[in-house]
Amino acid sequence: MSYDALAAAEQVADQARAQALAVDRDGAFPTSTLDAARAAGLLGLLSAPAVGGRGGSLADAAAVIERLARECGSSAMVLTMHYCGTAVIEAHGADDVRRAIAAGRHLSTLAFSEAGSRSHFWAPLSSATADGESIVLDAEKSWITSAHHADAYVWSSRPSSGTGASTLWLVPRGSAGLEIAGGFDGLGLRGNDSAPVRARGVRIAAAQRLGADGAGFEIMMGTVLPTFALLISAGSLGLAEGLVQKTAAHASGTRWAHLGEKSALADLPTIRAYVARMRIRVDQAKALWREALSAVAAGRPDAMLLVLETKASAADAAGEVADLAMRVCGGMAFRKEVGVERLFRDARAAMVMAPTSDQLYDFIGKALCGLPLFG
Ligand SMILES: Cc1cc2nc3c(=O)[nH]c(=O)nc-3n(C[C@H](O)[C@H](O)[C@H](O)COP(=O)(O)OP(=O)(O)OC[C@H]3O[C@@H](n4cnc5c(N)ncnc54)[C@H](O)[C@@H]3O)c2cc1C
Repeated sequence: MSYDALAAAEQVADQARAQALAVDRDGAFPTSTLDAARAAGLLGLLSAPAVGGRGGSLADAAAVIERLARECGSSAMVLTMHYCGTAVIEAHGADDVRRAIAAGRHLSTLAFSEAGSRSHFWAPLSSATADGESIVLDAEKSWITSAHHADAYVWSSRPSSGTGASTLWLVPRGSAGLEIAGGFDGLGLRGNDSAPVRARGVRIAAAQRLGADGAGFEIMMGTVLPTFALLISAGSLGLAEGLVQKTAAHASGTRWAHLGEKSALADLPTIRAYVARMRIRVDQAKALWREALSAVAAGRPDAMLLVLETKASAADAAGEVADLAMRVCGGMAFRKEVGVERLFRDARAAMVMAPTSDQLYDFIGKALCGLPLFG
C-alpha cells in the first residue's frame, strides 16, 4: 500500500496542536512536532524510494503543510523550508545526504536571503572562493529558518568562477567560521528559529556544490520557486482555514445573556456575512493553489505564472481573512483563549517572504505586459 501522507499529517497534527501555544509563547522550536513528523515518515516525504524515501509529490507535501499550519504555523514553516532544501538536494546532492533526509536524520533549510540584497534573494552578494579542493565562503545571511537546528543549509553565493547570478552549496551547520547571530523574537511564526548567520572564511569541500557553478539562479527558479511558493501558500491557506474554523465556532458559541433567544454573535447578519466572506476568500485562494499544483505536476506552460499568482493570492488571502477574524471575534480576539490572534500574527509573514506579494504583483504584471521579469 502506498504511503498516505495526509493520514501521517493527521497524526502529527495532534502533537502540533498540543505544542502550538508553548511554541508561540516561548519562541521555542517545535521539537516534539518535528519528532512526531520524523516518526511518521514525513521528513522523507519528498525523498525518492531509491534512497529510502516516500516518493511523495509536491501536492502531497502541500496537503501536509496545509494540515499542520491549521494547528501550528511555526511547525508548518520549518517543514516547508525542509522540503525546499530537500528538493534541491534530491536533484543535485550526494546520495549519503539524500539517504539521511529520507531516514529523517537530516533537517534541511534554505540560506538565500542576505543583508545586502535583502528580499532580492536571486542576487546574492556573498562570495565563494576556490582554494584547491576547498571553497571558502564569506557571507551575511539575514534569515535562515531552523538556523540552530538544521543539519546543513542550502546556501547561495556568487559563482566561484565564471558567469551566472549564483551558485548553491550544502553548508554543514557546524562548519568552523559560521556564526548564528542570536535567536528569533518575532511577531509571528515565533518558533521557526529564523536567524541571521555570518560566514567568515568558512571552508567546505568543493564537492559540496549543488548543481553547476553559476547555475544557482536556474535551480532557484526551476526547483525552489515552485516548491517554496506552493508550500508557503499551503501554510497561508492552513492558517486561513484555522481562522475560519475558530471564528465560526466563536461566532456561534458566544452569546449576549441579556438578549435571550437569538443572542449569539452568529445571529447578527453582519457577523454571518463576515464569516461567509472569509470562507469565500479561502476557497478562492485554494482553488487557484490546486490549479497551480496540477499545472506544475503536468508541466503545463502556464505553471510558472500560476505559481507566482498562487503565492500572492494565498498570502494576501490569509492576511485579509485574519483581519476579518479579529473583527468578528471582537475584544476577545485579543486574548489567547479564542486562538485567532496567534494565527493573525503568523499569517502576516508569508506576504513579506521573498518573492514578496508586492514583488509578485510586479513580476506578474511584467509577464502579462511582455516585459523582462528582472529588467
Ligand atoms: C519568518 C521568516 C522566515 C524566513 N526564513 C527564511 C529562510 O529560511 N531562508 C531565507 O533565505 N530567507 C528567509 N526569510 C527572508 C525572506 O524571504 C525575505 O528575504 C525577507 O523577509 C525580506 O525582508 P526585508 O526586510 O529584507 O525586505 P526588503 O527587501 O527590505 O523589502 C521591503 C519591502 O519592499 C518591497 N519590495 C522589495 N522589492 C520590491 C520590488 N521589486 N517591487 C515591489 N516591492 C518590492 C517588499 O515587498 C517589502 O514590502 C524569512 C523571513 C521571515 C519573515
